[in-house]
Amino acid sequence: MARRSASDEGSKPVKISKQSLKQAAGLLSYLRPYRFRFGLGLLMLAVSSVSSLALFTFVGDLFDITKDNFATEIRKIAMILAGLLVVQTIASFLRVYLFSYTAENVVAKLKQDTFAKLVSLPMRYFSEKRVGELTARVASDITSIKETFTTTLATFIREFIIIFGSIAFLTWSNWKMVLFILGVLPLVVIFALVFGRRVRKISKEAQQANAEATTVIEESLQAIATVKAFTGELFEIARFSEKNRQVAAKGIRNGLFTGGFVSFLIVFMFGSIIAVIWYGASLVAAGEISSGQLFEFFIISIMMAASMGGLADSFNSVQKALGATESVFGILGEQSEEPGTGEIRLNGNIEFKNVSFAYPDKPEHPVLKNISFRVSSGEQVAFVGPSGAGKSTLTHLLLRLYKPVSGQILAGGTDTVSMPLNAYRQNVAIVPQEVILFGGNIRENIRYGKPNATDEEVTEAAKKAFAHDFIMNLPDGYDTIVGERGTKLSGGQRQRVAIARAFIKDPSILVLDEATSALDSESERSVQQALNELMKGRTTFVVAHRLSTIRNADKIIVLEKGEIKELGDHSQLMENSEGLYRHLASLQFRV
Ligand code: ATP
Repeated sequence: MARRSASDEGSKPVKISKQSLKQAAGLLSYLRPYRFRFGLGLLMLAVSSVSSLALFTFVGDLFDITKDNFATEIRKIAMILAGLLVVQTIASFLRVYLFSYTAENVVAKLKQDTFAKLVSLPMRYFSEKRVGELTARVASDITSIKETFTTTLATFIREFIIIFGSIAFLTWSNWKMVLFILGVLPLVVIFALVFGRRVRKISKEAQQANAEATTVIEESLQAIATVKAFTGELFEIARFSEKNRQVAAKGIRNGLFTGGFVSFLIVFMFGSIIAVIWYGASLVAAGEISSGQLFEFFIISIMMAASMGGLADSFNSVQKALGATESVFGILGEQSEEPGTGEIRLNGNIEFKNVSFAYPDKPEHPVLKNISFRVSSGEQVAFVGPSGAGKSTLTHLLLRLYKPVSGQILAGGTDTVSMPLNAYRQNVAIVPQEVILFGGNIRENIRYGKPNATDEEVTEAAKKAFAHDFIMNLPDGYDTIVGERGTKLSGGQRQRVAIARAFIKDPSILVLDEATSALDSESERSVQQALNELMKGRTTFVVAHRLSTIRNADKIIVLEKGEIKELGDHSQLMENSEGLYRHLASLQFRV
């Protein structure tokens, strides 16, 4: 697979249409607070573009100075040029500063809003989109929007001003020159653009082929032990040779086109420069223009050609920025979860009533079918069943990460859908199988369960979770930085931090997702001890693979293909000699 850079992940350019402009208009609301600074920036842009044109026309006047008027003229032109340089300098500085000021502020607010939106979107959104791709895309889209305000727009407008300003100036100076330039330049520029684009495409193909060949090397070397074990060396060499041949072929083709393009540029660009000078010189000879005007004519036609050439790229950047805006505003327009307000204290009575469910990205594939069971406050319920039976999905519904497609989940007799989401979730805590700690210290990680908890409460929770001792042995105790860039904790230690986090939240409902399955028996014992403490007096749902941990559960729900096959406690289920539970147990306990 070829690798893609972050910028490739960004949104594609879009056609400029009513719809895309409408989306872009959304950006205006972000621009509004900075409109005066941005407006001043635009004015400065116009001033600097016009003054750069003017600068060259006055430079041209230097050529027309004669011996007789040298003393007066040179001073006048020098003053004008100095004045223009000062104007140009100040205007360019202000333009860059004001545009960056606007862009940084607009983009900071946009990023803040996009992040706030993303974290409040329902799970459905994340199961439809791959998170890595989403972050890369948002990052590159926002960069593209920033570039719009700093450079793209500026370049685009400057190019317009230069093209039309040059035409206006030349028309005023000598209209024949304009006709000549307009007859020659656009043709050459268009031809160069089309040819240039083709060369770029071919060079991209060559790079792509190279990336593919590199991937083969990486794959083979990374799995070198497997390659050798399967005596796959010759196969790998053949695979590489095919890719390598393509790299060479594409590289040669690239060289051919690039060479052609260079020759083209030499012939046409130099040719048109010579043509412009030749034509100008003939006008000078005919006494129609001065040599100063010839210089202006020459410089201005070069500036115009550069602007015409740049216009296509700028236009492409504008389209890309519109695409980026569309995609970011698409996210901002998504429907967030409704967090709701208020507090609820649930007692832990839970009832599933004919609950059926399918994940939103696969609505035709039911994951849970007609699930009904009732749990009383403080009971321990275990979900067991083969892989893919729907155990974790049940916990997702309990956490209200998704809504049932049909049926109801009642808490204390009330349909949970009618409860404010955050108030409901305050009553539920989860200890997942794979605990991810946030960057920050241990204290902050435990406090995640109750943001306003005191230090004493944190220590208390850690003690209950049998985590206090190991925390005190860490270099900075509770202030030890953990997470991606901090001290690495063992699986069991991380789990005890997660248990402390659940303790401090003090929920009436607990969800344990195979919390001890990834641990060795020593750390499993301490985690199990902590969990036993945590479960006391709370309704607990355990997703269990190892049946030994749930022998004492009040209810065991045996799932298969999204349906409840059996329900009872360990001894009841063991009585059914044909049952799935007994079958699973016989595999694990050899009974
Ligand atoms: P395991 O013991 O292997 O973890 P499980 O019993 O917990 O399995 P679930 O994870 O609930 O099973 O999965 C049930 C079904 O739902 C599977 O077919 C799975 O492919 C599908 N599924 C799980 N999560 C998603 C998701 N986010 N989007 C779409 N389908 C999913």
